[in-house]
Amino acid sequence: MSNEAKAQDIVLPFQIDSLDARGRLLRLGPVLDTILDKHDYPPAVSAQLAQMILVAALLGNSVKFDGTFTVQTKSDGPLSMMVADFVTPGTVRGFAQFDRAAVEALGDDPAFGALVGAGYLAMTIDQGPDTDRYQGIVALDGPDLAACAESYFRDSEQIPTAVRLAARKDGANWYAGGLMIQHLPQGSAGPRSDGTGHLPDERDDDHWANARAKAVTARAEELTDPALRLEELAWRLYHEDEVRVYPTLHVGFGCRCSRERISTMLARFSPDDRAHMAVDGRIGVTCEFCNTTYDFDPEAIEP
Ligand SMILES: [Zn+2]
Repeated sequence: MSNEAKAQDIVLPFQIDSLDARGRLLRLGPVLDTILDKHDYPPAVSAQLAQMILVAALLGNSVKFDGTFTVQTKSDGPLSMMVADFVTPGTVRGFAQFDRAAVEALGDDPAFGALVGAGYLAMTIDQGPDTDRYQGIVALDGPDLAACAESYFRDSEQIPTAVRLAARKDGANWYAGGLMIQHLPQGSAGPRSDGTGHLPDERDDDHWANARAKAVTARAEELTDPALRLEELAWRLYHEDEVRVYPTLHVGFGCRCSRERISTMLARFSPDDRAHMAVDGRIGVTCEFCNTTYDFDPEAIEP
């Protein structure tokens, strides 16, 4: 494997004790090619979906859980829906719904707000049957997805968070990267000796201001450059603060659709409904995530 291949589709967790912060750096390449090549999306849609997949992988990777972490937008603009999910320990997938003519009318490099319009970004954690689903929602009113993700953490979780996302296509290949850093308030590991618990203090604010100021210096070219190792980027940003890095984790493509799952879903309809779904005597069901079409004989589906 070349060095370039090694430096892609990975997450690097890091921690900066001196600033009470922890974060993740993420670099995605081939996995985005796999997902986006399955669809014929306009470039502006692919670029936004690439960022959604970055968000799913960055955030999903930073929460302790077993299951599926889903991010979804729903809005009234030409790009009316995007879904990306991350399944532990490290698979992602995603798809978008949009009005092609309206997207193309916006030109090559439309503003985020013009593409998505008004709506929301939802994040869901699903740990399987018999567990509580967690869902949080934030308005899609930032200048980009990263800003919306930041306001989600600020408003819903009260966790100061900085998020940087970048995605570009060069020739036939996607190069994308992300950075998320979160403030761990003093005492978050337990009550303080003086009994003040989790209350932030001035020293906390200075630390966070410093951590955030350095995060925003990460340039899009650095985040997306497959020749720049993530360890090196973490060092570039936080070497003054004794950043500690952990082993990298792999992110791959994974779709959970299957013939069995779709057959089970079709079996819930009445034989009459199934007859109506059939075209030329067959039912075709296409998975929106991976674009695989499954073909069924309506008569052969057993309830
Ligand atoms: Zn699928």
